[in-house]
Amino acid sequence: MRLFLGGLVHETSSFSPLPTSVQSFRDGVLIRRTDPQALQQVTAQPNLMGVIDAAARHGDTLLPGLYAEAQPSGPLSRADYERLRDELLADLRASLSLGAVDAVLLVLHGAMLAEGYHDCEGDLLLRVRDVVGPAVPVGALLDLHCNLSPAMVESGAVLVACKEYPHIDYAARGEELHTLLSAMARGELAIRAQWQRVPMLGIFGTTQPPMRDFVLQLQASEQTVPGVMSVSVLHGFAWSDTPYTSAAVLVLAQDTPAARKAAAQLLGELAETFYGLRKRAAANRLPLQLALDEAVAAMQQAQGRPVVLADTADNAGGGAAGDSTFVLRALLDRGIQGVALGMIWDPQAVAIATSAGVGARLPLRIGGKVGPMSGDPVDLDVEVLACRSDARQRSLTPGGTDPLGPAVAVRARGIDIVLNSIRQQVFSPACFTELGVDPTTQRLLVVKSTQHFRSGFDAMAAAVVYADTPGSLASDLGRLPYRHLPRPIWPLD
Ligand SMILES: [Zn+2]
Repeated sequence: MRLFLGGLVHETSSFSPLPTSVQSFRDGVLIRRTDPQALQQVTAQPNLMGVIDAAARHGDTLLPGLYAEAQPSGPLSRADYERLRDELLADLRASLSLGAVDAVLLVLHGAMLAEGYHDCEGDLLLRVRDVVGPAVPVGALLDLHCNLSPAMVESGAVLVACKEYPHIDYAARGEELHTLLSAMARGELAIRAQWQRVPMLGIFGTTQPPMRDFVLQLQASEQTVPGVMSVSVLHGFAWSDTPYTSAAVLVLAQDTPAARKAAAQLLGELAETFYGLRKRAAANRLPLQLALDEAVAAMQQAQGRPVVLADTADNAGGGAAGDSTFVLRALLDRGIQGVALGMIWDPQAVAIATSAGVGARLPLRIGGKVGPMSGDPVDLDVEVLACRSDARQRSLTPGGTDPLGPAVAVRARGIDIVLNSIRQQVFSPACFTELGVDPTTQRLLVVKSTQHFRSGFDAMAAAVVYADTPGSLASDLGRLPYRHLPRPIWPLD
């Protein structure tokens, strides 16, 4: 199979203080078709791992196009989105001009916004369809925090989202998508998509019941319901304000009357089950002071293991600045010690501490710089524990790593603080260990992450506490200035 590969990945928060531009993709991943190493670079993308393995086994010829990913942030300008989109479309046309393209596989997010575009993925997929025509199978690998739109489905693209939050199953979903596209390209499979909006929003981690059991139910239904090929449950992304913002269920089935009927029934059942889970499935996020009470209580039972407290609203992975100081301030006010806190995005403080050097003691102004949702800067007399220019952390996909940029660890009043320069959430303990801070010997670990941290920290954690901190991803959706969100929707109505 001659398989065109590309990607345009951005989770856009309407409420992020940080704009997004082509430069944001240069700072993340921006691979162009004309780059000399384009094929090697695209095939090395962690999100494509399962696709690349499957393609290698089948002896596919891979045709790389634009592959772009940026850290979540605010909407793109119209011009920047159109520039990236049109480059990807031009790459596809260029590949077609050199020979047949048997299938197109794109990595997208599902909650990307630009000026004038509530639904970048729907826009892109419709245009891809226009380029390749009705017969060529097109597939998209999606994040489950997708706000599924009519245009995305009407494009005829085969849409497969990850099922796990933390998103640890991209490789498996990529293999699945490859299997579907190659069967379609051989003319052995026709797929009909059915979907249903589920009027709810929230943060629904899948590491614990009831969502754990729901994921198992989805996987079982793919095996047992005749004709059903793939089931995706989209959680929606509440901080992206569009007419499509919502949870949804999507069922892909063979295009036969019997399979369509079975899929319709399954769709109704899964949508009802998901809606029924909404109150129990949403993470129990405590206001900061209550969360600290719970963390301190858990520390007393922890038997030498760290308690992990998630600063859920300052998650760079949801478009937050990652430099808020609300938790740090509260820890200092309470005099809680034996803490490691990561990562505060503060390139300026990193540069100052790096100039001072390891072992130096200096006054340092930390965090609180981007805007009101970052809180106030905190002034501390710190000791510089470590400076790194090349630190990385493991990402969610096995073998994948993400750079932290220049980073330092500093200590003040019993708190070890990791500061970094490439805005990024905490995925793995490497955020600490790379800076010489041993997370296993701390009494309390504070991580700026909503849920993804669990894949790396659950094994060491005596307890996990979710703090509903102030910030860009604060969970009180009723306070967000929505203009487009469809109503009624839980938990607002
Ligand atoms: Zn996600």
